[in-house]
Amino acid sequence: MSKHFETQAIRNQTERSQFSEHSTPLYVTSSFVFDDAEEMRASFAEEKERNLYSRFTNPNTTEFVDKIVAMEGAEAGYAFATGMSAIFTTFAALLKAGDHVVSCRSVFGSTHNMFTKYLPKWNIETSYFKVNEVHLVESLIIENTKILYIETPTNPAVDILDLKLLGKIAKKHQLIFIVDNCFATPYLQQPVKFGADLVIHSATKLIDGQGRVLGGVTVGKKELMREIYLFARNTGPAMSPFNAWILSKSLETLVVRVKKHCKNALKVAKFLEGNTHVKFVKYPFLKSHPQYKIAKKQMKLGGNIVAFEIKGGIEAGRKFLNNIKMCSLSANLGDTRSIVTHPSSTTHGRLSESDRLEVGITDGLVRISVGLENIEDIIEDISQALDF
Ligand SMILES: *Cc1c(COP(=O)(O)O)cnc(C)c1O
Repeated sequence: MSKHFETQAIRNQTERSQFSEHSTPLYVTSSFVFDDAEEMRASFAEEKERNLYSRFTNPNTTEFVDKIVAMEGAEAGYAFATGMSAIFTTFAALLKAGDHVVSCRSVFGSTHNMFTKYLPKWNIETSYFKVNEVHLVESLIIENTKILYIETPTNPAVDILDLKLLGKIAKKHQLIFIVDNCFATPYLQQPVKFGADLVIHSATKLIDGQGRVLGGVTVGKKELMREIYLFARNTGPAMSPFNAWILSKSLETLVVRVKKHCKNALKVAKFLEGNTHVKFVKYPFLKSHPQYKIAKKQMKLGGNIVAFEIKGGIEAGRKFLNNIKMCSLSANLGDTRSIVTHPSSTTHGRLSESDRLEVGITDGLVRISVGLENIEDIIEDISQALDF
């Protein structure tokens, strides 16, 4: 299809019912009916593409998936109950005992736990490289390596990995290259263009963008998605029609929301750069970011997450959080409401200091998910919270 990005997000729509509704209705149904025995047979034999049962497909989930497939430039996709069920199901569908994964160490906490605690139960091991060790990736690849996995930008330190370079390495070694594109959204970055075979999103974040529902989606190559679909259809991690209906609506405003998020985030990053209580600021579109050039090459804008280091370590980080008046203290991100977190005393508090440093979490690191409030109010809140 030649339609532009925004148009795909708005105009990909399930066929209207007999009521000619403008907005897509919510199809709250567990199953679908057949006219006769022959139609039922042909549908189960997949000779006919149609909905059978909402664990397999549903008009609302199909509409949501079709949009993401188009926006990512992918071939096919499947929607999951959460981002983690998308990630786990993707790995479980494609791997077998004895396979090996190469992944960046800076991945979402539960993804890290999947690699270290759960995949080893099935004799699947993962080798890690750090964000600044991309030159070591090829040395980690062994005979049974099947998947190369990354997130970019990373959480919470907003490091950037070179999609083009990693795409080439994956192709050379015939690995399945999987990218968690959650922080960028398909609007800012389309990993398929750089050689990704599969792209995963937690739709819970910027795709919903309003902190309402959980969701996940995997899109990519047709033959890989077929494996994932068959596995999911039998094991049951499907997205609910209600969440798909919400998320499909959310996509209609993704571009305007993300543009504004990024504009606000850049202003917050620039404000922090000039603040005397701040040791350093990390934002992909600041010239001081260690991977600024790569970010500029592969992203349209810098995203909505700003990380910065407060002078004074853990105590200063806690004080900053306590001083915050308007922004929310919450574990979510990508909401209309700005959210601040202090990873070393909260989400990553149980890790040892050396484990935290491995993923760039210094004691005074604060992560801000910059929202859509008026920028003056966001900066005023951060500014007064730093003043101690
Ligand atoms: C939140 C998040 C996930 C997990 O998504 P859920 O919808 O919470 O299951 C995975 N990857 C990244 C980068 C995330 O931020």
